Amino acid sequence: MKNLESLFPDIFLPADAPLVIAGPCSAESREQTLSVAEALARGGVKIFRAGVWKPRTRPGGFEGAGEAALPWLQEVRERTGMRVITEVATADHLHAVLDAGLDAVWLGARTAANPFAVQEIADAFASLPEDERKRLAVLVKNPVSPDLELWIGALQRLYGAGVRRLGAIHRGFSYYSHGPGSYRNAPYWAIPFELRRRFPELPLFFDPSHTGGSREFIAPLSREALDLGFDGLIVEVHCNPDEALSDASQQLTPDEFFETVAKLRRGVEDPTKESLRILREEIDLLDARLLELLGQRMDVSRRIGKVKQASGLSVVQPSRYARLISERTGAGTVLGLSPEFVRRVFAAVHEESVRHQLPER
Ligand code: PEP
Ligand code: MN
Repeated sequence: MKNLESLFPDIFLPADAPLVIAGPCSAESREQTLSVAEALARGGVKIFRAGVWKPRTRPGGFEGAGEAALPWLQEVRERTGMRVITEVATADHLHAVLDAGLDAVWLGARTAANPFAVQEIADAFASLPEDERKRLAVLVKNPVSPDLELWIGALQRLYGAGVRRLGAIHRGFSYYSHGPGSYRNAPYWAIPFELRRRFPELPLFFDPSHTGGSREFIAPLSREALDLGFDGLIVEVHCNPDEALSDASQQLTPDEFFETVAKLRRGVEDPTKESLRILREEIDLLDARLLELLGQRMDVSRRIGKVKQASGLSVVQPSRYARLISERTGAGTVLGLSPEFVRRVFAAVHEESVRHQLPER
């Protein structure tokens, strides 16, 4: 893959094979780190991931072993020959990783959302001697919010600091309403897809573990990402997932991981061509927003109903209705909507609104 050559020039993959990065959410102990690393290396994994500093959403969770874990990662490198990547969130983390001689870093979703933090890391890169700056590969996760410009901004800050071995990781976006059976983070494929359209050479990885949040989603989500032309995957793997100190529900055992990867084959879809699936996802998101807005509008209607009742006004006021329809029709025309369509939509909205304003019986 042309894209991946810029990132890891010394890793050779069969043509069109995705590059799979694997390892535990966190390096918890020397034994836990080495046992999963050895299993992965035996199965041909070339790049090992493990978190050392863990950004937890709420206090009290396992915050990583910190610098004490870096010698374990050095040992993984030496014993298995795998490249090693970990997360950095500050300039101090970056310096510690460089001192430990690791190969690559990623910026997490919470860091990517904070331009001050990204700039601090970019400045630390800018102050390195050129060979050091060029040695590390840097992957930037999408920010937690579905904000493509913020993601691009983070990549640009690093590029501006002279980082050239640069890639992006899509790990889904925070959203409010998720219950049992839904993804931990929404994939919103249209966003990484647009990133790919604007920067076709930028290596693009997918993180099915943090997107799905649960083991059963890893295979179908990875399949989808490869169909869309992603260059690689980053997957959480732990020898004893249920006992993991972080993200227990979304880690695979090495065997489960190899079984999943063996079934994945790169898709043939042209990644620069708009796909029906992505466009439909956009329509679904817009419809969800339309419904949410309609719900909010009816809440306001109910409050208006109470005010009218208290002041003895009738529910329907023809002059207000006529003005509303004419103003909405005019605004709709500017947006390319036919007057007849706008009239029909707002007549239906108004009818529903009147129903909400009537006193409850
Ligand atoms: C991780 O990869 O372990 C991690 C914390 O991910 P994210 O920043 O995507 O939440
Ligand atoms: Mn994790």
